[in-house]
Amino acid sequence: MGIYDSLGVRPVINANATLTLLGGSLMPAEVLQAMSDAAGCFVSLPELQRQVGARIAELTRNEAAYVSCGAAAGLSLATAACVTGTDAALVTRFPHLDGVPNQVIVHHTQRNGYDYAVRQTGVEMVEIGSAQGTSPADLATAITDRTAAVFWFHGALTTPGDLPLPKVIEIAHAHNVPVVVDVAAQLPPASNLWHFTQLGAALAVFSGGKDLRGPQSSGLILGRKDLIEACRIHGSPNHAFGRPMKVGKEEMVGLLAAVERYVNLDHDARAQYCEATVASWCAALNELDGVTAVRSFPNEAAQPLPRCLVTLASAAVGIERDVVVSALLDGEPAVSVGTHDDAGIFLNPMTLEPGEEATVLERLLAVLAGAA
Ligand SMILES: *Cc1c(COP(=O)(O)O)cnc(C)c1O
Repeated sequence: MGIYDSLGVRPVINANATLTLLGGSLMPAEVLQAMSDAAGCFVSLPELQRQVGARIAELTRNEAAYVSCGAAAGLSLATAACVTGTDAALVTRFPHLDGVPNQVIVHHTQRNGYDYAVRQTGVEMVEIGSAQGTSPADLATAITDRTAAVFWFHGALTTPGDLPLPKVIEIAHAHNVPVVVDVAAQLPPASNLWHFTQLGAALAVFSGGKDLRGPQSSGLILGRKDLIEACRIHGSPNHAFGRPMKVGKEEMVGLLAAVERYVNLDHDARAQYCEATVASWCAALNELDGVTAVRSFPNEAAQPLPRCLVTLASAAVGIERDVVVSALLDGEPAVSVGTHDDAGIFLNPMTLEPGEEATVLERLLAVLAGAA
């Protein structure tokens, strides 16, 4: 970690999640190698984007694929693509489009920070339903000739009263409106790379820098050929809406290597490692007075991997949860963990490098022992 030392920036052990704030994820050797290989010479970037897209589409059983500079950029490009299609004149005028469909429908309950990436194109968001629930009629009556797309935010952002996604797709299709799903963090399972588009979503947008462990500034738009072509027209190096969201040759090739690795990964062995890690953390922490540790499932993105939920009875332990979290981050080595309610700490094995699971436990035990 010489580079970080020389900058006076402390390396952090990530027992939290694939958070952009911490750098997302770590690239495996084969991804780094592919990026290094790609960096060695000049190529035609549009040609590379096409070839990489074709390979990724094949690996993920999709019609077409486009590499964006993150899932958020993918949402912006997907929005632009749904508004203009492949009409070059509209792309040039974008986002000032009188008389062109420029509304996007979204469940009221699914509004979230990432929908800024949709709104920044200038489209108007039309909300349907409420916390009490959303009906098929809510969606059907919201669709007009101004509707460019229906957006769906999957996973932890979906609530029990929402329409089922297949129903959303059925109603939207009856009106010839594409459905775009934000599935940025919906991996594993790897089959999600084709599940949503096979359900009928026109586009599915994934983060390249989360569990895929591709370049942090990469994202993946998968789905319908015509809409992927529209993303391409809006995208760099064309002087269009997506020009400031440039994707480099290294990112394109790195993401392809990451997808190739991910679809061939032994996901059972990986899940077993996570289960064993959580079980051993629980066993060690439950030895302590005032500490309760349990397996928590699924994870923060509602994906099928376990975390360890550690609950502190502050009076018995002699330290507040937030003080423990700060001590872990300020200590040596720095450890980032998640939080739950007032007294819970989440330990996540998903983002750890081999051997770090022991360090995380040691650090937490040391902080708790210091308080006792
Ligand atoms: C992480 C995330 C994004 C953004 O992904 P980036 O690749 O960091 O741009 C968008 N939507 C959701 C739901 C996410 O979890």
